[in-house]
Amino acid sequence: MKLKESLERKAAGFTLDRLLKYINKDPQKNILRLLNRTEFLLGGIFPKKNLDAMKEVIRAGKGVYYDFAMNLLRDTDHDYLKKFLLAAGVGAGIQGTKKVRANRDVYHCNIPFLILMDPTSACNCRCKGCWAAEYGHKNSLTLDEMRSVVSQGKALGTHIYMLTGGEPLLRKKDLITLCEENPDCAFLAYTNATLIDEAFCDELLRVGNMTLALSIEGSQKTTDARRGEGMYDAAVRAMELLKQKGVLFGMSVCYTRENVDMVTSDAFLDKMVSLGVKFGFYFNYMPVGSNALPELIPTPEQRTHMYRWLRRTRNGETGKPLFVMDFQDDGEYVGGCIASGRRYFHINAAGDMEPCVFIHFSDSNIREKTLLEGLQSPLFMAYYHQQPFNDNHLRPCPMLENPQCLRAIIAETGAKSTNLEGEETADALCAKCDKFAAAWAPVAGELWENNPHPNPKTQFYRDTPEGKQQAAQQ
Ligand code: SF4
Ligand code: SF4
Repeated sequence: MKLKESLERKAAGFTLDRLLKYINKDPQKNILRLLNRTEFLLGGIFPKKNLDAMKEVIRAGKGVYYDFAMNLLRDTDHDYLKKFLLAAGVGAGIQGTKKVRANRDVYHCNIPFLILMDPTSACNCRCKGCWAAEYGHKNSLTLDEMRSVVSQGKALGTHIYMLTGGEPLLRKKDLITLCEENPDCAFLAYTNATLIDEAFCDELLRVGNMTLALSIEGSQKTTDARRGEGMYDAAVRAMELLKQKGVLFGMSVCYTRENVDMVTSDAFLDKMVSLGVKFGFYFNYMPVGSNALPELIPTPEQRTHMYRWLRRTRNGETGKPLFVMDFQDDGEYVGGCIASGRRYFHINAAGDMEPCVFIHFSDSNIREKTLLEGLQSPLFMAYYHQQPFNDNHLRPCPMLENPQCLRAIIAETGAKSTNLEGEETADALCAKCDKFAAAWAPVAGELWENNPHPNPKTQFYRDTPEGKQQAAQQ
């Protein structure tokens, strides 16, 4: 860490320490002081108008966001919270964002804000339709490989690392080591919750820069139906333990044609809030792999429901005190597809650099290339040049909503299938999306036409001098 960065971190740590120490005495007054004094820190994560709105909510002393703030302070260990804010706010928000944006212009390619990697492809569970369950204990990244990803990433400005798999907590000792060695990075593990115990919670509190997203799919019946008997109870037990220990955590929900009503019901959300869940990451079911079930892709009506439900659930008056987001229906906040390093990319357990966790194609492996070389490879550059794939950000995906784009990219770059359960061609994969893409296009068009949109601060190739020059020549 450079001297300036280290001083910024120390100053922020000192302020947070003092404020969190006294916050319980008069939460309303002290949260306002905390927001005022850490504006320089939170400004790296939230736009100013959102910060002003947060202050207004606290001043009012009621509402969804007030409840959220109170729950967060009540349920989360304050020393852990301080370390997490330092990693996510100073490391990623302030120091990382500036560097990422600058490096895009230096290297003329996408530079990611976060990297998702699979410590192992192994999993201790057997969920229906999941390749990890079928695949078994075949591939893993070594601790040194993960260290190298983080150190190369930090040099580019990347300070957020997400871990998936397989089950990443099969490598929990190595993950804690990574956290310990990189206090200026925030880590998040997507987990099936079965390996969370008291000792691991204590380690999370000690390092302070890792949070968890626990997989759950609605009620006991719907969760166990896909994930196996006892999985709902395991997730609930783990949530109770994390809350009791004061560790920040959320949930990860895959929504399908069968469970979408259940996982967006008030009863489900209220239960999750009562268990201490602070955020919910929702993922549209993607028909990837030979065991995939295209009939589980949510219908256009269900996608419309998701679009409206997300905005209602985040509304300060009609919402719930947890933060929900959906990578498919929230594309307008990030300028569409974020893959191939535009905001993130994926490294699988065999070291292949893939544009996205759902796009199992690659032309680069971290065992042969640096991250920067991979970001500048033909596959990643094709994404860089073509993003956004659609100006309607409710149709962001080159696979699900614009399957002709992925077919063309794979044909043009010759990227190879990295699907671990067996090779899958772009044509076979995209053919499973064609029907949905055609049905969703007019519905998404109408939604886009008739609703307001944010104006996210983002960088597209088409806005660069080279992009403009290229467009002028065509
Ligand atoms: S817990 Fe996750 S990785 Fe493991 S089998 Fe189930 S869905 Fe796959
Ligand atoms: S490739 Fe599709 S799923 Fe992946 S980030 Fe882009 S839009 Fe999202």
